[in-house]
Amino acid sequence: MGLHPALSNQIQPRTAGNKATETEKVSVSVALAAFSFTAAQHQFSYENNAFTSQLGLFAAAEDWPLEFPTCGGGRQSPIDLSGVVPADLGPFRFRDYHRAPDEVTVSNNGQTSMVTFSTRKTPRVSGGGLPGLYVLDQLHFHWGSNPYRGSEHTLFGFRFPMEMHMVHFNSKFENFTEALASEEPTAVAVFGFFLEVSKDWIPIWDNLVRALSHVKEPDTEHPVNPPTPPSRWLPTGPSRFYRYYGSLTTPACDQVVVWTLFETPIPIGLRQWEQWNRLRTMAGTKLTNNIRPLQARNGRKILYDDCFHCFRDNKAKRKRKWRKKIVPIAGDSWPTWGPVQPTFPWDFESPTA
Ligand SMILES: [Zn+2]
Repeated sequence: MGLHPALSNQIQPRTAGNKATETEKVSVSVALAAFSFTAAQHQFSYENNAFTSQLGLFAAAEDWPLEFPTCGGGRQSPIDLSGVVPADLGPFRFRDYHRAPDEVTVSNNGQTSMVTFSTRKTPRVSGGGLPGLYVLDQLHFHWGSNPYRGSEHTLFGFRFPMEMHMVHFNSKFENFTEALASEEPTAVAVFGFFLEVSKDWIPIWDNLVRALSHVKEPDTEHPVNPPTPPSRWLPTGPSRFYRYYGSLTTPACDQVVVWTLFETPIPIGLRQWEQWNRLRTMAGTKLTNNIRPLQARNGRKILYDDCFHCFRDNKAKRKRKWRKKIVPIAGDSWPTWGPVQPTFPWDFESPTA
């Protein structure tokens, strides 16, 4: 397991007392957001502030490091995406993202709405500078109490209405839990997608929104029918993306994540967005603002792959040329993103050695 050379120096041992600073006030409720955590299952939930503070059981987001030391580590997420370094990381190769799974289930765990897939052909992704093949585990959402500010990451200071996280683990591990336990800096790959609210009804969200109306109460789940392939919720075309090394944005904030944030936002209808704000927490309050405040960047590099910029600026002739370079994946209708590199220069070197 290694890291991109340009980023390898970003991986440093945990620094005790390296407390992350909040660089932006998201909202009062975020600052007060609290959680519960079951070590065995790595579960947590954002709970009612008054309720939790009365109980004295749960720490506010900025106090997470007191209970979970890693939350105060030097490679925490989310961060503001700015001051980026251009890079060409090569195309992503999505496999079986377009296949309709046998079952798709949405659940409300009191902290987020999560979508899981039951399928014989698990979606996998490689390329795009990822150090290996990654298996899709689940996708979930972060959102705010208003349709303007709800993403965890910000793009040059701009906060989007929602953020969707597609969580993958490296295929060398059996499952997500094992990947976390490894504590390897690239054990998990999360794809973050910004969502922008539209006044239109966006059909791609239909099935999910309908199922969401059945999981308003925490600790409930409902099938998404018909089962929706995960490719449905990817941007419709190639997107520039950002890459950095960070952490889970919920306790225990494990610093095991290769982050990929796609620049092109996915539209969602206002009426559809509202369905997320109807969900409830364990404490019986509205489940909203499940957003961790921005964390200190601590000198980490953010790579920015803009090869699609060139593509978009080119005329049709150049476009055809570019298309020829695309390597199709047998049996997969989802296109690879970006031009194929003759050599794959992104061999990753040892992270902490
Ligand atoms: Zn997330």
